[in-house]
Amino acid sequence: MSAFPSRHAVRALALLTTALALALPSLAQQHAHTHGRLSMDVAVDAQTLTLTIESPLDGFLGFERAPRNDAERQRVSDMVARLNAADQLFLPDPAAACTLSKVTLHSAVLGLGEENKEGVHGQGHGHDDKPGHAKDEHADIDIDIVFNCAQAPQARHVDVKLFEAFPRIRAIDAQVASPQGQFKRTLRPNAPRLQLGR
Ligand SMILES: [Zn+2]
Repeated sequence: MSAFPSRHAVRALALLTTALALALPSLAQQHAHTHGRLSMDVAVDAQTLTLTIESPLDGFLGFERAPRNDAERQRVSDMVARLNAADQLFLPDPAAACTLSKVTLHSAVLGLGEENKEGVHGQGHGHDDKPGHAKDEHADIDIDIVFNCAQAPQARHVDVKLFEAFPRIRAIDAQVASPQGQFKRTLRPNAPRLQLGR
């Protein structure tokens, strides 16, 4: 038997595998910007429960740019205060004995992030957007929430109060990684409890 066809096939397969490897992670990480929806990754480890949220800013603010007047600035600081009190918005199963450890907010148009802990004040007009990114387009907010838990794997659910606090949010696409495996759940205002087991 000639070695050529199979070597050819192997090379074709290698190319295909490379193409898939390049395509799949971007598919998995790509979150569509859909107003009213947010995505939330939930990771349950031995002693931590971590929520990683990516959302259109619209769901939390009703606008997606830097605030332009006092009323909008007030809206931003109310949002920041509510999100920083994340244990009022996300209630882990008491069996896990969790306490809120850390909340990190990031939103470039609001000047929220690691280098801008003072929030929106003194941020000018938000010119730190990427070049070629028109102003007054859509914008997101990233929210990382960490709970420390005595028994994180004991958590069977997390009650989510986000729909009441921010009525513009209509659906949460949750992806859970727990000792019981990985799975997806969609939460809605009439079904706000995230089950962490199968
Ligand atoms: Zn938008």
